[in-house]
Amino acid sequence: SWSSSDSVISTDSAGETAETGSPYRVVLLGANGVGKTAFASIFAGAADNEMCEKVIEVDGESAAVTLLDTWDTEVKEEHIRLDRCMHTGDAYLLLYSITDRASFLRASELRIILRHFRPAQHTPIILVGNKCDLVRRREVSVSEGRACAAVFDCKFIETSAAMQHNVWEAFHGIVRQLRLRRDSKEA
Ligand code: GDP
Repeated sequence: SWSSSDSVISTDSAGETAETGSPYRVVLLGANGVGKTAFASIFAGAADNEMCEKVIEVDGESAAVTLLDTWDTEVKEEHIRLDRCMHTGDAYLLLYSITDRASFLRASELRIILRHFRPAQHTPIILVGNKCDLVRRREVSVSEGRACAAVFDCKFIETSAAMQHNVWEAFHGIVRQLRLRRDSKEA
């Protein structure tokens, strides 16, 4: 059963994830084909699997991160997958493809669902416009992406997993936000 997610949320509220050494759980979310698998393989390096844990160095401090691509599970029912995703993460990379307007609209829907599942929590989210190398196929402008992130009160970055451009910046950015949240809870 997925009721273990309750304990995820309570460790969340303890706000001491890094100190206890339990990794930050970062979830990749987004429509099919936007580049989640590509992100996961860059993160994982050689090994790529559904759940990858790594210690990464961000601003001279190490952070344990578990990256979850929960979307591509064997679970077929979308509402179950969504429910699982929404309860699993400490933070979310919300991906769309700049070449696919439908994936951009899907990202908005997912942001709204996320807010519904996490009404009171300031869950770090970065809106990620991937495939920015495909300039001639662009369907979503940078300013649209930025405006959407502003409306949804989250950070924004454009990336290219194919060119390995800004992908680590996105991972580092989410760790910085998790640390800020942790620090504000400790204060
Ligand atoms: P997922 O369904 O979200 O896991 O998407 P994938 O990671 O499987 O990517 C779908 C397709 O887009 C694959 O053919 C990838 O090689 C390609 N792709 C992913 N990221 C990029 C990118 O940044 N640029 C380009 N040109 N192709 C990409």
